Amino acid sequence: MSQKNVKPTIYLALVDDWELRGDGSGDMERIQFQSMRELVRIFNAHGIKGSFNAEVMQQLSFRKFEGRRPELKRLADEWDAVALETFRQGHDVQLHVHPQWREAQYENGKWLLTADWSILKHDPQDAYRMMETCKEYLEKLLRPIDPHYRCISFRSGAWCIAPSPHILRLLVRLGIVFDMSIVGGAQYDTRHVQLDYTNCEEDFLPYYPVMEDARKVSRQKEEIICVPTNQFYSSRRYIFKKQLGKVRDKVKARLKPAPSVHDNQTGAQNYYQEWAEANPPTSKLRRIFQNSIVPYKSGYHLISDISLLDYELLGEMLESIRRRARATGLSEVPIILENHTKDLTNFSHIERFAADLARAADIKCVTLTQLGRELADGRFFIKTSRT
Ligand SMILES: [Zn+2]
Repeated sequence: MSQKNVKPTIYLALVDDWELRGDGSGDMERIQFQSMRELVRIFNAHGIKGSFNAEVMQQLSFRKFEGRRPELKRLADEWDAVALETFRQGHDVQLHVHPQWREAQYENGKWLLTADWSILKHDPQDAYRMMETCKEYLEKLLRPIDPHYRCISFRSGAWCIAPSPHILRLLVRLGIVFDMSIVGGAQYDTRHVQLDYTNCEEDFLPYYPVMEDARKVSRQKEEIICVPTNQFYSSRRYIFKKQLGKVRDKVKARLKPAPSVHDNQTGAQNYYQEWAEANPPTSKLRRIFQNSIVPYKSGYHLISDISLLDYELLGEMLESIRRRARATGLSEVPIILENHTKDLTNFSHIERFAADLARAADIKCVTLTQLGRELADGRFFIKTSRT
């Protein structure tokens, strides 16, 4: 499996988390349906099969209230239709769960979400029931198109997967082949989410996790695999250039709030800023820095989230992946990217990036289902702490 001095083939999964905002707000038509259709159009134009992690707790809440609220029924029906249309074209749809939708209420045209954002803080039976119900909903929806379809992968809402005495075992019980909730270097301490992935034992290759703490690599084979979501460090040159431009714009705008530079859109709140209320940055300088660099402790660290990266950073990300893949000495390496359709409004960056991927001889775009199959068949090296 291991061949030195060979340019490795990168099995790249373009994975999108498909959902409303964390507090249940957002124009579904625009941030879910239109965005997904546009992304699928781009993928199709370049012969790429993408994957969408559909957040099903939201859909179950819409279904729960649809009898009393016809507008919710219309949206829930369209959710099904768009997911089906995407799946029918060969793209994958997999499992994503945001437990804050548990026992959601709908009042005056707004969702009221009061449950905990971290699935790890829910009782194990409740957590299992939520994941099972979501999985059953997706499988029932998609099996008329592919009778063999099943949920084989998982990404936890707000990345909450470790540590936990039970969550990985619950995923095994559900038949999940691999989890992709670990993203090395991420650290949050906000009102809704607290997690610390700054000391993950593996943040690049697939591995067997310690069953009580997915941040650690197990000594032996386990019944579930972790494939980390990729992350990288942007160049200092990029940061310096953008910061300079940012400060200049700020001065021009007399310190009016400006869009985040990593948002390839026009200033709407992005996924990571949804969490930011807990620890508001104090000084103006600090605010500029945090808004532009993504709220991590280390300013240069970035999740490989397409919706946050412009074309230049997407290029840096790919270079980092190639460099690290070469350093492993392996001939085939699977990589998982992130995306948030809800944060995409300017698709030009991803369009250029997709064209690059389609041309690259060393990159093979795969769906999560394909990745799950290859992992199960032993195509990829899966790390234990002894290897
Ligand atoms: Zn999500």
